[in-house]
Amino acid sequence: MRQAGRVVAEVLQQMSSTVKPGVTTAELDSLAERIIRKAGCMPAFKGYHGFPATICASVNEEVVHGIPSLRRLQDGDIISIDVGAIYQGYYGDAAVTLPVGDVHPEVLRLLQVTRESLAQGIEKAVAGNHLTDISHAVQSFVEKNGFSVVRNYVGHGIGNQMHEEPQIPNFGKPGRGPLLQEGMVLAIEPMVNTGDWQVETLADNWTVVTLDRKWSAHFEHTVAVGKEFPQILTKL
Ligand code: MG
Repeated sequence: MRQAGRVVAEVLQQMSSTVKPGVTTAELDSLAERIIRKAGCMPAFKGYHGFPATICASVNEEVVHGIPSLRRLQDGDIISIDVGAIYQGYYGDAAVTLPVGDVHPEVLRLLQVTRESLAQGIEKAVAGNHLTDISHAVQSFVEKNGFSVVRNYVGHGIGNQMHEEPQIPNFGKPGRGPLLQEGMVLAIEPMVNTGDWQVETLADNWTVVTLDRKWSAHFEHTVAVGKEFPQILTKL
C-alpha cells in the first residue's frame, strides 16, 4: 500500500506542475496513466463500474467523478483530480484541488479550508479514537469557516479493494462508529462546497455537481491508523 500510495502521490505532484490554462483534462489523464504504468502499477479507476479513465477530473462546480475530456482548463478555474493506483493487488487513493492560473481569493480560501479540514480529520486517525471523531473534526472545521460538507459521498476503508468498510462520513457527532486500531487504512476525503451541501449527478451518470452550481473542492489521502500518530501513505 505504501508503494501504491507513493505512485499516487507522484501523479498528483506531476498534475500540479502540469495544470495550467489551455491544458485539456484528457491530457492530464494520459499523463497520469503513463506514470502509473511506468511504475509497475495499474490505474485503479479505469474500468471500475465502467469508469472510462485513470483520473477523475472535476472542474469548478463539479464535485467528484468528472470524466476527462477535450475541455481546456481556463484561467480562474479550479480542478479536482482524484487518482487511484494498484500495486500487487493493494490500493492507494488520493485527490487534490488545484487552481488554474489566477483564481479568485475566495476560491483559494475554499481550497485552503478543504485541505486543512483533511489535515484535521487525519489527526484523529489514531488508535483509541472512534471513527466519527474524524467526521466531526472535518465538519466542524469546514462549517466554522463558512462552507458546507457534501453528505452523499464519503471516505472509505481501503486495502486490497478500493472501497472497503467502514464508510467515513465528513460530518456527524464524535465518539461513534468503530474504535480505530493500529494498522487500519482509511481513505479520508472531504468534499467541500462554497454554497449548499446538496449535489446531483449529470446525465453522463458520473459527474457529480453542486445543486446550486457553486464551486466545490476535494482533498483526499490514504492514511494508516497509528498507535500514536497517523501515517499518510499517499505522500512523497
Ligand atoms: Mg476515495
